[in-house]
Amino acid sequence: MSQYWSELVRELSPYVPGEQPQIPGLVKLNTNESPFGPSPMAIEAVRSAAADTLRLYPDPQAARLREALARYHGVEPEQVFVGNGSDEVLAHAFAALLKQPKALLFPDVTYSFYPVYCRLMGVAYETVPLDAEMRVRVDDYCGRGGAVIIANPNAPTGIALSRQEIARLASARADAPVVIDEAYVDFGAETAVPLIGDHPNLLVVQTMSKSRALAGLRVGYAIGDAALIEALTRVKDSFNSYPLGSPAQEGAIATLQDEAYFQATRSVIIRNRASLTTALTGLGFQVLPSSANFVFARHPNRSGQALAAALRERAVLVRHFSGTRVADFLRITIGSEAELGRLTDALAEILAGPSPT
Ligand code: PMP
Repeated sequence: MSQYWSELVRELSPYVPGEQPQIPGLVKLNTNESPFGPSPMAIEAVRSAAADTLRLYPDPQAARLREALARYHGVEPEQVFVGNGSDEVLAHAFAALLKQPKALLFPDVTYSFYPVYCRLMGVAYETVPLDAEMRVRVDDYCGRGGAVIIANPNAPTGIALSRQEIARLASARADAPVVIDEAYVDFGAETAVPLIGDHPNLLVVQTMSKSRALAGLRVGYAIGDAALIEALTRVKDSFNSYPLGSPAQEGAIATLQDEAYFQATRSVIIRNRASLTTALTGLGFQVLPSSANFVFARHPNRSGQALAAALRERAVLVRHFSGTRVADFLRITIGSEAELGRLTDALAEILAGPSPT
C-alpha cells in the first residue's frame, strides 16, 4: 500500500494464478497446461515470424488469423475477435457486454477471475449456487438478473452442459448478453459456436492455451454476432491496439492447419483422464465427471489442503482452492501417463500413512 495508489487499486483483490516454480523433476499438474509441446508447425511458424519484420507493428486487426479462425469454425471473420489470451478477451467482454444495469450472474463455483474483473470494472454481480452435485442449473439463470457468464465445461469442476442446454439459456435470456467461456471445450464438451447464428446475444470464448498447448503464446478468441464482436473491438481499440504480436498471430494460424496433431494430442488427454479417474476412484476418491483436461476430486478421509501439501513435499504440484464448497477438493491437470503415474504413486504413499487429526 502506498499513498500514491489510486482508490481503485486500494480496493482490488487480484486473481492469483497457479504457481510456476522452478523445481527440478517437478510434476506440474496445477495450471491445466498441456503435457505435450505445441504442433511442430506452430513452433516453426513462430520461429520464422521472429525475423527482422519484428521491427514493424503487427496487424492490429489480426486479419489473417481471424480469417483462419472463421474458416475453421464455419463463421465469418466479422464474427471473430482475437486477444492476448482468453483472459484478455474475457476482460473486454466484461467491459463491453457484461456490465449492465442489472447484476451479472455466474455460478458460485467457477473461474475465480470473474469476480476480479467485476471489481476492476465496477460490474455488479450475483453468484448462483451450483446444485448439490456441483452442476450448473440453467433454470436458475432464467427470468432474472442481467447478463450471464458460464464456463463450459465449468472450472474447476470440469462438468459440462450440453449444447441444447446452452441454447435453452440463450433463448430464455434473449434480453441480455450470454458469454460461454469454452477454455476446456475441446476435451469432450459440445461447443456452442453453431448456435451463434440463431442467438445474437451469445458470445463464445475459446483459447489456444489448453488443447493447442500454446499457453505461452497468449492467444484467445471470441465468436459471436458481428455486433457483439464490434463491441469487443471498441474496447480493445480503447485499451491496446496490438494485443497479439506477429509470432503469436503466425503460430496461431499454423496450429489451425495441423488438425492431425490436435486430434491426436487431445485423444491422449481424454484417454489419460479416464485412467486417472479409475486410479483415483480405486484410491477412494470421489471424482466429478470431467469433460476438461483436469479432474476435481476429493477424498473422504483427508483434507484437500493436507493432500496438496503432502504432494508438494513429493514434488507433485496440484491446485487447491480454499473456498467453502471446494476446500475438500484437489484440481488435478491431466498430464502424461508418466506424470499421472508419479501422482498416483505419491497419493497411494500418502494415504497409506497416518491420517492427520
Ligand atoms: N477461462 C478459464 C475457465 C480458465 O481456466 C482459464 C485459464 N486460467 C482461462 C479462461 C484463461 O486462459 P488463457 O488466458 O490462457 O486463454
